[in-house]
Amino acid sequence: MTVSESSAGGRAVAKAPRRASAAKWDKETPLGLVRRARRMNRTLAQAFPHVYCELDFTTPLELAVATILSAQCTDVRVNMTTPALFAKYRTAQDYATADRTELEELIRPTGFYRNKANSLIGLGQALEERFDGEVPRTLDELVTLPGIGRKTANVILGNAFDIPGITVDTHFGRLVRRWRWTSEEDPVKVEHIVGDLIERSEWTLLSHRVIFHGRRVCHARKPACGVCVLAKDCPSYGAGPTDPLIAAPLVKGPETEHLLALAGL
Ligand code: SF4
Repeated sequence: MTVSESSAGGRAVAKAPRRASAAKWDKETPLGLVRRARRMNRTLAQAFPHVYCELDFTTPLELAVATILSAQCTDVRVNMTTPALFAKYRTAQDYATADRTELEELIRPTGFYRNKANSLIGLGQALEERFDGEVPRTLDELVTLPGIGRKTANVILGNAFDIPGITVDTHFGRLVRRWRWTSEEDPVKVEHIVGDLIERSEWTLLSHRVIFHGRRVCHARKPACGVCVLAKDCPSYGAGPTDPLIAAPLVKGPETEHLLALAGL
């Protein structure tokens, strides 16, 4: 996004970059892609300097439970549900021996509550039987637990244990394909390909930044291209409105003012 100081009424307005031809991206070399991907990560770091896991938790077990509940449910709704749950169920043993009806009732607002109750009881039992009641710290062990797939395992590693992990959720996959970092649909392949592009130490923060960008700016249906900090590096620039004044209202979330200021608005 470039900014023009000369504008009607003396107000600085953002001037949208011209859309690069598709041929430019077709000719990109593997090294060029690495450089562009890392540059985009640095730009996202400026756009979202305070990223975090949007699920509330204080222990690895609470994060594991919250991520299980977040399937097909918004983080906001999970965060409204977990305070009462975490107050009552504090240990793996508590979940292992839970009264099913009571547990289902507590997690009902998150949807699919019968399946989720199965996963939580199974999680508690597996942790008790195989891991002394503690959440394990490796991907291989985590994915053996009920309700925990690779995506959830990476969320737990990165956010509860500070072990770098790439979380490929729907936002992450959608955006990296839009950016031509990969055309793969398979989340595990996406994880490995992005892992080769971006420094390992950045994996967890990158995951948050990309997900933040997907939720706030680069929406599936109408991305806010006209005010997007990644515009000059994005092969999909133009997928949404490029006029900054039309794009600006599409930006959501608490960082809106900061994001629009970066875009010159
Ligand atoms: S330019 Fe548009 S498509 Fe590309 S990242 Fe930004 S909002 Fe998404």
